[in-house]
Order: sequence, then C-alpha cells, then structure tokens
Amino acid sequence: MTKRDRIPDSVRRDVLAANCAYCGYPWPTEVDHVHPYSRGGSDDRSNLAPACGTCNAEKLDFTPQEWRAWRESEGKPWPPEGRAGIVRAAIQSVLDGGVTEEELLAAVEQQAQRLRDAS
Ligand SMILES: [Zn+2]
Repeated sequence: MTKRDRIPDSVRRDVLAANCAYCGYPWPTEVDHVHPYSRGGSDDRSNLAPACGTCNAEKLDFTPQEWRAWRESEGKPWPPEGRAGIVRAAIQSVLDGGVTEEELLAAVEQQAQRLRDAS
C-alpha cells in the first residue's frame, strides 16, 4: 500500500487546504507526516501537515525540530525558504526590472488564461 493510498482523499483535501506548514507557500501539494511515518509517526490527522514539494523533499525523515537544527548547523535560515521563497524571488526579480504590480498581475492573469485555454 502506498503512502497516498493510506490517507483518505477527504483527509488529504483537508490537510492541503492550508498553506505549507514550513514556508507558507499557498498551494502545497504534499501531505507531510510531522513525526515521520518511517519512524513510527501515524497517519492520524493530528500528525499530518501541508507541505510544498521543496520543503518536503528537504525535510525527509526529520522531525521539524531536527530539521531546524540541521538547517541552522548548515547556516540556512529558519523557517525554510521553500517554494514560497522561489516565488518571492521571482516576483522580486520582475519588480526590480521596473514592472509595476498592476502590470505583473495582468501578465499573470494572461498566462493563466493561456494555460486554461490550452487544457
Ligand atoms: Zn514549503
């Protein structure tokens, strides 16, 4: 049985309705076991947290406390930048180029419409 099969869709949807528990990314796609499943953590809702792919890939089998300690020992910031940091950096890069927020939002909407049209 895969990790995905064990967690009912209704629980997955509930978990993923919130931002990434670690970086705040608004569209997390992964259900993280706060206490790692590989180390005895349960599938109980209380042990599940929303995570973006970037955070979950780095957290691996750490508890949040261990992950934080590891990041700090590596000189990395806490909370992690995660996917939210990637999006922030991309937005900042565009704004630094002299584009206004209004122009950026219009361009995002235009691109989203293209994606909807293509699907
Ligand atoms: Zn994240």
